[in-house]
Amino acid sequence: MPVINSTKTDPNKILPLHYPWARRHYKAGVANNWVPEEVSMQKDVEQWKSDHVITADERRMVLWNLGFFSTAESLTANNIVLAVYHHITAPEARQYLLRQAYEEAVHTDTFIYCCDTLGLDPDEIYTMYETIPSIKDKDAFVVSLTQSVFSPTFSTEGDDNVRKFLRDLVGFYVIMEGIFFYAGFAMMLAMRRQNKMVGIGEQFEFIMRDESIHLAFGCDLIQTIRAENPGVWTAAFEAEILSLIERAVDLEQRYAWDACPRGLLGINAEQFCQYVEHIADRRLERLDMPKRYGTPNPFPWMAQSVDLQKEKNFFETRVTEYQTGGALVWD
Ligand code: FE
Ligand code: MN
Repeated sequence: MPVINSTKTDPNKILPLHYPWARRHYKAGVANNWVPEEVSMQKDVEQWKSDHVITADERRMVLWNLGFFSTAESLTANNIVLAVYHHITAPEARQYLLRQAYEEAVHTDTFIYCCDTLGLDPDEIYTMYETIPSIKDKDAFVVSLTQSVFSPTFSTEGDDNVRKFLRDLVGFYVIMEGIFFYAGFAMMLAMRRQNKMVGIGEQFEFIMRDESIHLAFGCDLIQTIRAENPGVWTAAFEAEILSLIERAVDLEQRYAWDACPRGLLGINAEQFCQYVEHIADRRLERLDMPKRYGTPNPFPWMAQSVDLQKEKNFFETRVTEYQTGGALVWD
């Protein structure tokens, strides 16, 4: 009973489970439930409106990230619902996709909340994916990988089509959610470490926690399809996947330079670029491919900041933390 393409699978019959990993990711997502209004934007609003707390360079970095994420979340949601869901026949994997789609709605809501509270011009923020080339190029790249899957006549029958489908999954799960989100995560969490825009920083941290599960699901899905369709993952296909990831790293590094052209807060674009390479190697390992960069992680705190935040919330007895169990990997 394969995960895609099964005419034998009854999509309404989830038990007995065939793919326990899908169920595990679903439960992990539920355990992490949150909504943006739990995070106060009070301090962010004060800092944003003051003319001496947030510098022009920091403002640019915040705007670039809001510009990218505000539309990227919808792009991801549309891919799940309109391209991926239809072809995944395993009911437990579909259950996860429903959960993921909901989380993308929460993320979309987060950027509405940020725009509203900071009083940003939605016409500016929501057109940045068209007007800012470094953002537009990232979106155009993932969209180009998914074109064939979006066709109403597309089917996953045959090795060529399975490869097209895998290209979509690599494009959205590994590249979009696994690489293109991470320079932005590092930027906003770096600002929070300096006590700047801490509400947005906390929201980005919650989003990052969700995205780490999306990425884990995507990689399990890719690996399962690969195992169930042994002829598909050829050496030529693997070389193509590597070149896509290299291209993604290049685009993400351009984005990092564009969002942060001058160093600030004791950090700079070179470090964001190193971080992107470090992250790309982690993604390649997850696909059982050799590392490409060997770049050390310049931001070890990216993995730690979350635990500290949990403690802080615990002692303030604020209910922003719904995690009830399960060990998560944080990048
Ligand atoms: Fe998301
Ligand atoms: Mn996601």
